[in-house]
Amino acid sequence: MSDFKETEMGVGTDGLLQTTGAEESKLLQEIQDSAEAVSQPEQDLAESDNPDSERPLVSFASLGLSEPVLQAVSDLGFESPTPIQERAIPLVLSGCDLIGQAQTGTGKTAAFALPILSRIDGADRSLKALVLEPTRELALQVSESFQSFARHIDDFRVAPIYGGASYENQIRSLRHGAQVVVGTPGRLIDLIERGKLNLSAVSFVVLDEADEMLRMGFIEDVNWILGKLPQQRQTALFSATMPEAIRSIAHQHLVSPEEVRIESRTTTATTVHQRYWVVSGVHKIDAMTRILEVEPYDAVLVFVRTKTDAEDVATKLSGRGLACAALHGDIPQRQREKIIERLKNGSLDIIIATDVAARGLDVDRITHVFNYDIPYDAESYVHRIGRTGRAGRTGEAILFVSPRERRALKQIERITRQRIEPLRMPTAADVNKRRLENFRNQIMETIEAGGLEEYVEVVSDLLSDDSLEPETLAAALAKMAQRGSSLLLDESAPEPSLHQGFDDRRRERRMPSAEPAPLRDFPDMKMVRYRLAVGRRDGVKPGQIVGAIANEANMESKYIGEICIFDTFSTVDLPAGMPPEVQHILAVARVCGRNLELREYTAEPPRRQRGEYQPLRAPDFAPDANDEGEYRHEPGDVNGNSVDYHPRRQNQFGSKGGARRGIDFSAPRRGYDEPKSRRPHFRSGPAVATRRSFGAPASIRRRDGF
Ligand code: AMP
Repeated sequence: MSDFKETEMGVGTDGLLQTTGAEESKLLQEIQDSAEAVSQPEQDLAESDNPDSERPLVSFASLGLSEPVLQAVSDLGFESPTPIQERAIPLVLSGCDLIGQAQTGTGKTAAFALPILSRIDGADRSLKALVLEPTRELALQVSESFQSFARHIDDFRVAPIYGGASYENQIRSLRHGAQVVVGTPGRLIDLIERGKLNLSAVSFVVLDEADEMLRMGFIEDVNWILGKLPQQRQTALFSATMPEAIRSIAHQHLVSPEEVRIESRTTTATTVHQRYWVVSGVHKIDAMTRILEVEPYDAVLVFVRTKTDAEDVATKLSGRGLACAALHGDIPQRQREKIIERLKNGSLDIIIATDVAARGLDVDRITHVFNYDIPYDAESYVHRIGRTGRAGRTGEAILFVSPRERRALKQIERITRQRIEPLRMPTAADVNKRRLENFRNQIMETIEAGGLEEYVEVVSDLLSDDSLEPETLAAALAKMAQRGSSLLLDESAPEPSLHQGFDDRRRERRMPSAEPAPLRDFPDMKMVRYRLAVGRRDGVKPGQIVGAIANEANMESKYIGEICIFDTFSTVDLPAGMPPEVQHILAVARVCGRNLELREYTAEPPRRQRGEYQPLRAPDFAPDANDEGEYRHEPGDVNGNSVDYHPRRQNQFGSKGGARRGIDFSAPRRGYDEPKSRRPHFRSGPAVATRRSFGAPASIRRRDGF
């Protein structure tokens, strides 16, 4: 297999971003080197650090996409391709294999979906493209994206395939003919093994979020699926990081892949104060309105992703009485200039813009930049926030980031080498304080402005009636000025949860129930919930727990039930009737450097009981009641490290191999009345490596899909 051909996007000496292939990249480097040799180094540095040096505008139309796809992109309000799209789309269209180093939020779904769709013929119902996703949420989300990008392709169908849902519907959708299947590995394997998924015509495969698949223990499943696909195909692999195991997959299954990485050389040393807010509890529009009520601002620039969003946010803010306008590519140039002029002269305070429309916007009075939608990369973040803090002033940048975009935030911090602080969302009391201050200021300004004579006469006349107190009169006038709406927010009303940072999501203390969840495949099997002394703080993943239990107790993974990971401990549901020997083995089994200390979970802090087996306890053990709370897998949050674990099948490498010492409690016992075929097998014995893994220790392998 040949070496990867790596292409990069960087900032050239002219300050413009340039796209190159491997040879071009080399050539460009030579040109750059020679240019640097004759130019002032300080000047080059200043140029590449200049937030105004934006990359040239590329249109979707120039990338070679089909007409129906271009039409859909336009309908969706996408103005120009994101960096990963700009790079990946032509490569995918050219037919080569591709490695894309990109994470969620960079627009990578469209980077592979648009070129795939450009080559799909709706009239041909055979399965043409298979997209592998690590979670059902992503499978659904990516399917929806395909559907929406394919809105102008007649007879196009996409089938999302994931575990935990009815087989029937999924099999039906495959039978009807889907040109694209987006699925999680486990269920895909099930359907392939059952002969329900015909891969013979697949000519395009996407391995999305490959590092996430690795983390979740799916890599062997992915390998298995890739091995079942036709040799003649195009493969694209997307991953936020490139650990060795992913490179190894790429090496094994991709042919001379082009590698696309978005290199950012931008650094900021900015006078802009940067804060972020984790989108949770309230709508972004409410959050922004509340922030704007409390922050002293002059002019505000709000960045959104699409033209439609720009219009939408502008309409909503106007509805709340804020002087604002949308600025995007569909607004004629003359009108755009007028809007910018109004922002400059103060007749307008807020502009909601797309990146394209805000290019070159230079207005000194902008005090705040809102990243209402997170930008695609750190570089565009720097360009955006560079719109404030101009002409020697300071500026404020506020970034809205969803929990699943936390990686993007970290990357921005890393590349800009600046910390972005969590923003404290103003409370109703903060808002009221500011409203009262404003109210008072308005009164004082009105008094200072004068011209009150005619009103003084009316007021004096009213006050001549002794029964009317001046305070009551003034309050009545104030109420009239409010035109029926209340001046103050109700501080006693329950506040929406206004999280400050990612960590706050876990601060809620919630003890897990002691009630075990039934096994999906064997819902009648009696289960017991156990507590394990490893938790999120140890970095434990469900796959490690499954691996340890399956290997140490020689237990088939299909009997391992729901796993929940908390800060300081985890729970796992296992079939009832575990013999003391096995319990002991699992109590002393080590995962992430700790003994598992397995014991029955009682939703009470552990108590020492005389005569009972007492595993060693780590010195910094914190009782469960002090745990910071559960970290469950959330829809759309691919970084979640807890899953509802539904074992599905015996692995194809044979889970029954390996050395065993033969403690087997599968024999009938009291209270254990499952039919023989459904009885779990616990056996003691050393860890058994059952599947080929990519350098990962046996204990971290997880053997199921969904
Ligand atoms: P992804 O990284 O694929 O999860 O995409 C993140 C978000 O960006 C999705 O909401 C997309 O609809 C949106 N998006 C992708 N490409 C573009 C684009 N070129 N212009 C505007 N929005 C986009």
